[in-house]
Amino acid sequence: MSTTLPPASPRHEERLLIAGELRGAADSGTFEVLNPADGTVLGKVADAGPVDMLDAIGAARRAFDETEWAADRQLRKRGLTQLLDALIEEKEELREELIAEVGAPRMLTYGAQLEEPLEKFRWHIDHIDEFEWVRRLDDAVNRFSGEPSQRWVVKEPVGVVAAITPWNFPFGLLLVKLAGALAAGNTVVAKPAPETPWNATRIGRIVAERTDIPAGVVNIVTTSGRDTAELLVTDPRVDMVTFTGSTVTGQRVLECAAPTFKRTTLELGGKSASIILDDADLAQAIPQALGALAHSGQGCALPTRLLVQRGVYDQVVAGLTQAFAQVPWGDPQDPSTMAGPIVSARQRDRVADYIRTGKEEGARLAVGGTVPDRPGFWIEPTLFVDVDNDSTIAQEEIFGPVLVVTPFDTDEDAIRLANASRYGLSGYVTSASTERALRIARAVRSGTFMINGGSFSGGDAPFGGYKASGIGREGGREGFEVFTETKTIGSALPLPLA
Ligand code: NAD
Repeated sequence: MSTTLPPASPRHEERLLIAGELRGAADSGTFEVLNPADGTVLGKVADAGPVDMLDAIGAARRAFDETEWAADRQLRKRGLTQLLDALIEEKEELREELIAEVGAPRMLTYGAQLEEPLEKFRWHIDHIDEFEWVRRLDDAVNRFSGEPSQRWVVKEPVGVVAAITPWNFPFGLLLVKLAGALAAGNTVVAKPAPETPWNATRIGRIVAERTDIPAGVVNIVTTSGRDTAELLVTDPRVDMVTFTGSTVTGQRVLECAAPTFKRTTLELGGKSASIILDDADLAQAIPQALGALAHSGQGCALPTRLLVQRGVYDQVVAGLTQAFAQVPWGDPQDPSTMAGPIVSARQRDRVADYIRTGKEEGARLAVGGTVPDRPGFWIEPTLFVDVDNDSTIAQEEIFGPVLVVTPFDTDEDAIRLANASRYGLSGYVTSASTERALRIARAVRSGTFMINGGSFSGGDAPFGGYKASGIGREGGREGFEVFTETKTIGSALPLPLA
């Protein structure tokens, strides 16, 4: 194992990692990776088929059953620290890769796209020592023999984990799954989204060449094939699926995982309400509302549905109309850019369809709404006002730079409208009143909530959704625990557990 940068490594890693080996697909297939900012082909990556996926699952199974990974916490700490150190060394390459393959604005790589995930990874390594792996309960008495019995609760890894991730935050979303699953002692087959494979294959190369992580513990399989991907959720050798993606795919994953009773955690879509009360500081609330445009709206927890109290509604709409027209969008390389391209032609067309539907359903288009005629995949930042909360654009996740604004009268109305959604990922409120803000925060059915621009970000913070936004949590103690099984032991022999 080398501790220095591998010489002459390719800028982008094209190979799969299966059973410790970096290799192409069995049938030598590849697929192209595009630059969303101009539509050009950046390069290619291995296109795994069923044979490769089954190999990867077999390798993860053997690594779980036959190596020390599941039992040896010191090995896990060492291997994961080596991985983190190498990722930090290659951080600038990761940054350029994210900007190129995702179209991620450079600005975001200093937060949720790159730097924050690295911090979260460190938290998980530290948590290996802090987690309560063993808990002793009060002794019991055997009801037949009358002898005392020790009682213990021990936490064990679940087994082989399939990690399936989307394209919008490909590095962070994969890293948090790897962090939790691996720190808890599981082995992993990771399948990144086909649009954005290179951050994942880079992780694979680092694991293989720069860490003591045993062969088969981490497998990275890129594929353009849905049937190949689906093997991960049907194969009986996989014990758990951790999925992030759309709600419709999440439903499919849950169905496929049911026959083999896989533990399944789902991080799905959102249509999070952001509420501006009539006592809010509008100088703060209006710029915060622009958060809906971050990464061109391609974020699951963004405040994409703005509810504004009637007394300040006209002021907010006027302020937003002005702010939207000036928002920095365009070249993701430019450090001031907030909204870059849309990841693919398919997604761009989907967003354009929603804009058309919004107009047809009678919402007032205040700003934007066009598909710019230029290379790459783009949508102009778009503001719809006077939107009916029951309409399509207020109910469905658009995943583009589109904010919908709806007026309301009372705090009760705001809560009712915020909850009148199948989703429950996140929520936001701006108010001068702690009492009103807290009441709304507690009443909105969502997995996270932010008051007056507050942030919950950190490795120790669980993240996830209520309702159709998901099942389970990622990150924090709750997210770590999801990757463990619980075994309760009664013993007439004193046990040396720790
Ligand atoms: P998607 O559901 O189309 O795909 C997600 C992943 O699942 C991809 O890797 C895809 O190849 C894979 N996949 C698709 N069908 C599969 C199947 N049948 N079996 C196994 N794997 C399959 O989602 P997307 O378009 O890549 O990402 C956007 C969606 O992700 C949005 O809905 C967004 O809200 C959601 N998302 C949620 C969170 C969260 O934490 N809640 C975070 C980011 C993105």
